[in-house]
Amino acid sequence: MTDEGVAEALHRVAAARLWAAHRFPYLASALFAAPVQLGEGIGGVSADRWWRISVDPEVVRSWPVEVTGAMLVHQIGHLLREHADRADAFDVGEDVDVWLRAADAEINDDLLAGCALPAGQVRPSDLGLDDDRLAEEYASALRVAPPTPPLEPCHDCGSAAHGRDRPWERGGGRDAEGGAGDGPAIDGPTADLLRRQVAVDVVAHGRRAGDVPAGLLRWADALLRPRVDWRRALRSEVRRGIREAAGLVDYSYRRPSRRSGAVPGVVLPSLRRPVPEVALVCDTSGSISGAALDRVVAEVDGVVRAVGVDGVRVLSVDAAVHDVRRVRGVGSLRLQGGGGTDMGVGVAAAAALRPRPSVVIVLTDGETPWPAAPPAGVRVVVALLGDAAPSPPDWARTVRVPDSG
Ligand SMILES: [Zn+2]
Repeated sequence: MTDEGVAEALHRVAAARLWAAHRFPYLASALFAAPVQLGEGIGGVSADRWWRISVDPEVVRSWPVEVTGAMLVHQIGHLLREHADRADAFDVGEDVDVWLRAADAEINDDLLAGCALPAGQVRPSDLGLDDDRLAEEYASALRVAPPTPPLEPCHDCGSAAHGRDRPWERGGGRDAEGGAGDGPAIDGPTADLLRRQVAVDVVAHGRRAGDVPAGLLRWADALLRPRVDWRRALRSEVRRGIREAAGLVDYSYRRPSRRSGAVPGVVLPSLRRPVPEVALVCDTSGSISGAALDRVVAEVDGVVRAVGVDGVRVLSVDAAVHDVRRVRGVGSLRLQGGGGTDMGVGVAAAAALRPRPSVVIVLTDGETPWPAAPPAGVRVVVALLGDAAPSPPDWARTVRVPDSG
């Protein structure tokens, strides 16, 4: 290619990057961190897993700037979403083509929903599949039922998309011909920091402008939130509450001590170990989906059985308490309610039950008033439904139950 041709290609790449950073400001730190080089004959834009983006100068000269820009963003999508590592975890094997389409579909239905894409790029609808799924789900679907007629050959986005070194890549430790390679443009720890920075920018931009694609926002939320297994957390909170209650020793005059006979006329208190009781306060206001409640109720049921408590008293609460019943197994549970919300009412009602529960679990989306202080002698564990649910007061133990998982 002539020097002029190269200069024009570089100029167009620079313009495409500016377009991309303007259109996707929350991706700017990644877009400007990843070096772009020309790669004659690679037939489009690709990236290696070391964050080096290659652009075919011939192709780029024929594309509108927006299409090149969209493909730069597309490669950043592969890198942010760690498609190379996920390909290994998915055990892609010989199915690189299937994985490539699946990974492309994960990016193109969301991040690039409104953008023009070059030939060879797929969206889920091209595969006969629904939007908003993960690459793993698309790849599984394609393995089970390959599309008919077979799809056009797809563009190879490089090792950023599937983790396999390609001949045009200059490699992390070595290049494809076994030479020394250029080393990573961005090494692993730096890439992690970059992903975090982008995630912070995505969330901040989402709050301000609200035009961040939903899938990218979910990615950012998941990356920034420490990965806590809510089921394990809930189990340990309930167990702890029950253990504490079981360890409590209650001097009760209800049943006379057997030693009473030794001291005529005096009733000595007996030492009584209370049977742990668990109450479940279910927020049945309109804002909570039945499926979300079912998921957590099933989990609570499992925990309670495991620790040997005989059934749970369940209170259906919105702005008032509708129903209190002891249930064994949640299959029969029908929750009533559906109006406004006040979990404070539910907590107070649970604490007033006799025998008094030692643990009160509250299932809610957090959109509720709370009392200023907890009821005495009762451990309150809040299972908070939803990624964006507002936190309850500090006196409650909180387990956040994410929208998915
Ligand atoms: Zn791709």
